[in-house]
Amino acid sequence: MESFSVSIKPHAVCIPFPAQGHLNPMMKLAKLLHFKGFHITFVNTEFNHGRLLKYSRGAAALDSFPDFQFETIPDGLPPPQIEGQQDVPALCESTSKNCLVPFRNLLDRLNSTEGCPPISCIVSDGIMSFTLDAAKELGIPEVLFMTWSACGSLGYMLYKPLIDRGLTPLKDESYLTNGYLDTVIDWTPGKNIRLRDLPSFIQTTNQDDFLLKFVVSVLIERVQRASAVIFNTFHEFEHDVISVLTSMLPPIYTIGPLQLQLNQILQTHLRSINSNLWKEEPECLQWLDSKEPKSVVYVNFGSVTVLTAEQLVEFAWGLANSKQSFLWITRPDLVRGDSSILPPEFLEETKERSLMVNWCSQEEVLNHPAIGGFLTHSGWNSTIESVGCGVPMVCWPFFADQLTNCRYACTEWGIGMEIDGNVRRDEVEKLVRELMEGNKGKEMRKNAQEWKGKAEKAVSPEGSSFLNLEKLIKEVLLT
Ligand code: UDP
Repeated sequence: MESFSVSIKPHAVCIPFPAQGHLNPMMKLAKLLHFKGFHITFVNTEFNHGRLLKYSRGAAALDSFPDFQFETIPDGLPPPQIEGQQDVPALCESTSKNCLVPFRNLLDRLNSTEGCPPISCIVSDGIMSFTLDAAKELGIPEVLFMTWSACGSLGYMLYKPLIDRGLTPLKDESYLTNGYLDTVIDWTPGKNIRLRDLPSFIQTTNQDDFLLKFVVSVLIERVQRASAVIFNTFHEFEHDVISVLTSMLPPIYTIGPLQLQLNQILQTHLRSINSNLWKEEPECLQWLDSKEPKSVVYVNFGSVTVLTAEQLVEFAWGLANSKQSFLWITRPDLVRGDSSILPPEFLEETKERSLMVNWCSQEEVLNHPAIGGFLTHSGWNSTIESVGCGVPMVCWPFFADQLTNCRYACTEWGIGMEIDGNVRRDEVEKLVRELMEGNKGKEMRKNAQEWKGKAEKAVSPEGSSFLNLEKLIKEVLLT
């Protein structure tokens, strides 16, 4: 561990976008920086901090480290009507409009607090780039943490040329189904990509679509002002897109998979602090203990995806008919509307070989020997966590970069099979069986294990991600 004397510890302010898939990787990075000798201030929204105190396993630890402190700012929104539901577009709009003033006030207060080292750098989620104004005022470096994939990021970078060429927004709804989305465009040298594989926000007919404009102004334009950008990926995994992104973005540091980088050095260090916004149900790990190796399908659609009642039933019967054992995480707000009840016949038929709980510690589940495959929405954290555990996937992307992640999992990395957006029980049954028992499943498992090995190498001393983190600290955060 590098050490700095207490009085001159560098002080990093880490500010995630207030959603689970952004909070988790930022927390990991903050712990790594703390291990490397930084004093950390971790800035949550008031709303999310309340949820951490209520639900996270390590709530008692949140206040127990003097040099890893938590602060809060308001997110500018009323509490959501459904407990836990995260309205991502509303949060994007509200944080970018309302959070700079309280953030600036917080930094001023920290800088004038006796005993608190002066703030030396800001590490902000890429979506929270309003923070760049505060860094500029203080004359300190700021890195933007792109908590999505590099391939998704390249997809976002293409939005502006697509808008300029009139390829998005779509002329009308018929363009969603008439084959237009199969149009190919240039991607990386020698490779094309279909419009349907780009992050989902281009699939809009609204000429004033908020998210389309937000991507252009924040992820393409404002991002240029950052001192550097970070991705939770490893060079070997996404080198084709990273080499293209290098000419489009500020200096890039790939430092993932963060969970492997953390595991490697921190067996106990800050382990008690955890960033769950839902209450974990640890009994699922005991249930997994009773299962044969690689015999259970893990089903989890992350923290934002919402299913229709019909989709829920199709997934349920697909899983039942596959005859596989499964652990299905059914977040309380997973289904739209009130008609989210699973058919009693399904529950009866699968009761011997299934468990359904509201929330779990995903990394512990993915690491469990009983897990043989993952039915996922292809969120970036889920994808990179699955790679870090060598688990193959069936992908049902929902929105944002998940579409690009799914494309890469299926066609570039050889670790995934895609379920059609219009989910049908027969297809779920077929793909889940193939994942667990078929030749394609075996091949994907072998590829996933190989990627796991490469990921472990990337975070080991002399590996690309390990060295990039060192360089990020030396070349950017300590300047
Ligand atoms: N997660 C978890 N338990 C759950 C569901 C999700 O710990 O039951 C974590 C998961 O490990 C990941 C994050 O929540 O770190 C979800 O992020 P991801 O990018 O996969 O999807 P999002 O929720 O942003 O759609």
